Amino acid sequence: MPVEILPTIPDDALQVGSRIHPATKQKQWRSDQILSTLLNQLPEDSYCMVAITMTDLYPGDSWNFVFGQASLRSRVGIFSFARYHPAFHSEPTTPETPNLILRRAAKVLVHETGHLFGIRHCIYHECNLNGANHLQEMDASPFHLCPVCLRKIHHATRFDPLTRYSALKTFYQKHKLTHELAWTNQRVLKISNAK
Ligand SMILES: [Zn+2]
Ligand SMILES: [Zn+2]
Repeated sequence: MPVEILPTIPDDALQVGSRIHPATKQKQWRSDQILSTLLNQLPEDSYCMVAITMTDLYPGDSWNFVFGQASLRSRVGIFSFARYHPAFHSEPTTPETPNLILRRAAKVLVHETGHLFGIRHCIYHECNLNGANHLQEMDASPFHLCPVCLRKIHHATRFDPLTRYSALKTFYQKHKLTHELAWTNQRVLKISNAK
């Protein structure tokens, strides 16, 4: 589906609640209030709208934090990549860090966009739509969708599998995601041989 990147909203233009987290001493935005703001701006012709931020999030005073928040029905979501950066956990930044952040960020956006298409957590196979409760679980989950979830996305968007895999190959190649590239090459071979 065509994706439109909207202009960045500066911090001081955002009229929602925030706090400094007592333990991390980092700023957090109120994710639920950002969702309400997005709902007001959701264009009628768009399937969904996703906001991303490098600031940590919390959905209410009794909460510690959330990685993100999305609504299965109202087609809006907000996600923070703050906790995907090693620096957040006082771990060193290495030459691998940009690739790690990209992998985590892209994986979570695929996962959450899946929810915005009404798909629930996958219990069938190793799949991008498996539920993940912490970073290690998320790192272990694959980029790709299992056959069940792929079929659900296909039902919603009616893509051509080969065209989709070719586009993914270009993305994986460009960003040196070698494991994902090898996996996708296998799929392309299987589909091509089946024709
Ligand atoms: Zn999920
Ligand atoms: Zn699945």
